[in-house]
Amino acid sequence: MAPAHYIVGCTACDLQRSYSSSAPDCAYQTLDGQQLPMPASPGWCSDCRNLCRVERLPSAEGEAALLKTLLCLRLDFANLLKDVPQKLPWWQFYAKPMNGIDTLEADISQLEQQLEAYRVLRAALAERASPGRCLTCGGSNHQPLPLPTRPDQPDVLNVNHPGCGGQLTIQASKQRPQKTGQKQLFDLEGRQIHSP
Ligand SMILES: [Zn+2]
Ligand SMILES: [Zn+2]
Repeated sequence: MAPAHYIVGCTACDLQRSYSSSAPDCAYQTLDGQQLPMPASPGWCSDCRNLCRVERLPSAEGEAALLKTLLCLRLDFANLLKDVPQKLPWWQFYAKPMNGIDTLEADISQLEQQLEAYRVLRAALAERASPGRCLTCGGSNHQPLPLPTRPDQPDVLNVNHPGCGGQLTIQASKQRPQKTGQKQLFDLEGRQIHSP
């Protein structure tokens, strides 16, 4: 997924926090030294009392959702191919790609890679005992925030701003996220590995 930038606010106060899906770059390091990208999302941590990056552990449901999206795309692809007039000579078909076929093919191949990476990660984390952590404090006292669904206005979330009484909101920002800081590495239990 392309990196994205979000603004989290509140319906009752002037809270404003920004969240970038790409910074910092986080990865798991397996015992044999392999690095696997860590899925994370914005979350409200009760211990930090702040918007934090929280671990999103891979799950059977997550894998099923990815697979479902992939199957839908493949079905779209098959339907699109069906619409190509059969009488079209093969050279014409290849010379003039149908609208949408190229994009769909690229989406399918991207999703296939995503699903494969998700499966590898699930297998690597199969023995995981601890719940998903807040990547700032390492605690598990947090609530993941849904990502915005509308481009131009904030979504009011069903999440209270603790101590304020307002509700948290999230909005996509047009600002391009920038990769900042060093890559952070974590063990398979989500504990940060500090280099000596
Ligand atoms: Zn508030
Ligand atoms: Zn925290």
